[in-house]
Amino acid sequence: MFKSKPEAHKFVAMLGEFEKLRSLRVDPTKYSRNGMNNVASYLHEQGYIKEKQLPLGFMPFIDAKSGKIATRVAKLIEAMTGKKLTVRNKEEIGNIASRYVSRKEDVLYDLHNGVLDWPSGDFGNSGSCWRNSYRSSIPMLEDGSGYGAGFAIRLFSTDRAKRRQGSYYGGVRGYGRMWILPWKNSLVVFNPYGQKIEWFTDRLIRIMSDNTDEKLYAENVRMSNQDSGLYANGGSSAIITTGKPYKDRSVETRMPRYLTKVCVKCRKKYARKPGEESSSSEGYCQDCGSKCAVTGKMNAKENMIPVLREITVVHNDKSHTVADGYILSDFEEQLTYCVDCVSYKDSKGCEHD
Ligand SMILES: [Zn+2]
Ligand SMILES: [Zn+2]
Repeated sequence: MFKSKPEAHKFVAMLGEFEKLRSLRVDPTKYSRNGMNNVASYLHEQGYIKEKQLPLGFMPFIDAKSGKIATRVAKLIEAMTGKKLTVRNKEEIGNIASRYVSRKEDVLYDLHNGVLDWPSGDFGNSGSCWRNSYRSSIPMLEDGSGYGAGFAIRLFSTDRAKRRQGSYYGGVRGYGRMWILPWKNSLVVFNPYGQKIEWFTDRLIRIMSDNTDEKLYAENVRMSNQDSGLYANGGSSAIITTGKPYKDRSVETRMPRYLTKVCVKCRKKYARKPGEESSSSEGYCQDCGSKCAVTGKMNAKENMIPVLREITVVHNDKSHTVADGYILSDFEEQLTYCVDCVSYKDSKGCEHD
């Protein structure tokens, strides 16, 4: 299904094995640098501190017992600057921290080299836009941004209340998912379901940190593809970088925009690459239609000849050898059907001659 292996990208390699259920044991004493950085960024934005940084060693981790983080931060800020945090500021710090709280249970996840096999509805969104109006999102993600194919991180749970449809890995069921797109020297992540974007980026950084000594950062950004064929939910995109945090507010991935079209036969929405088909809003979907392997013309598969063995036909005084796909039924007169092979053959014949 994929044209390029996402493993080729340095950041993807840091994520480790694909198509294998793995668990991330969240150590409650482990430093959630990402979480504390976000608290610091918020304090900086609100004008309490000059640098986007809290003093070294202050609250080295956020864990489930750190519910009073807002109080502790408020005391620190007052000691540092003499300023008192407002009730709203304290609430927001609590909200930020709660996204990074380490909880006891394991995080069950896999990295899935594909996007199509969790049907819509698996995330409680049976009208998922990616399966309907934004059908073109799927092939766009699969083709990637020129830095490798996009893929998914999927979350699983043994918790009966949490799990949704779809049984995987011996009964452990999925409940969440996010798309990941390799882009330049970074990963762009978007459209999280089941958990918030910060929750996902925090876990991804923990997973990646095991395979690199470089410092990793995650910043929320806007994706340039948000309004194009690839639909990204507003406010739910982030970028993971090394060395330093990403500075801009948006990521210009500039992916070639696919078209969402309606199939003339089955009436379902499907997508085509720009230039692959005329820009009219209707055509044949990948299931119902095919390009003729000789002429390049689109037609309904049911009116075409499936090529099941290598055959040579003449078109415009030229010989064309075709090994698979479909050809227009116009070529039937150049071929003979063998009932034993259940396929058309050319003048070379078959073993039944
Ligand atoms: Zn169709
Ligand atoms: Zn035969």
